[in-house]
Amino acid sequence: MAEMSRGAIAETAADREQMHDLYRKGGEERQMAPHVVYHDSSCPHEGCGQTLQAIDFRLEDHGRAIHDPLVRAWWNDTGFVGRCPGCGGWIHFTIRTKRAVSDDEAERCPKLPDNWHAGAMIL
Ligand SMILES: [Zn+2]
Repeated sequence: MAEMSRGAIAETAADREQMHDLYRKGGEERQMAPHVVYHDSSCPHEGCGQTLQAIDFRLEDHGRAIHDPLVRAWWNDTGFVGRCPGCGGWIHFTIRTKRAVSDDEAERCPKLPDNWHAGAMIL
């Protein structure tokens, strides 16, 4: 990835925050289905080549008891965790990033169902 100059980042960081907030609030109001396109194309776990760039979580397929709290967590930027379909490692998904997390960390987050990737669209 090409490194941007610090000046360019400083200039746009506030704008990006504002954009993010607008996007987040719009999604929250409409309880939109979480889908995301990440900058990084693969699983954040070291050595795992699982493609996880664009994800439509299809939470609506899991019933309201799962759908509702996860949609809330998505739009309030808490995000949720799920196991990578490739390596089985926990991944914390949020609107802007995905990252590898430990079992302990995953324990404290809202969780996708175990079979989330079976119904999700992953590109
Ligand atoms: Zn993986």
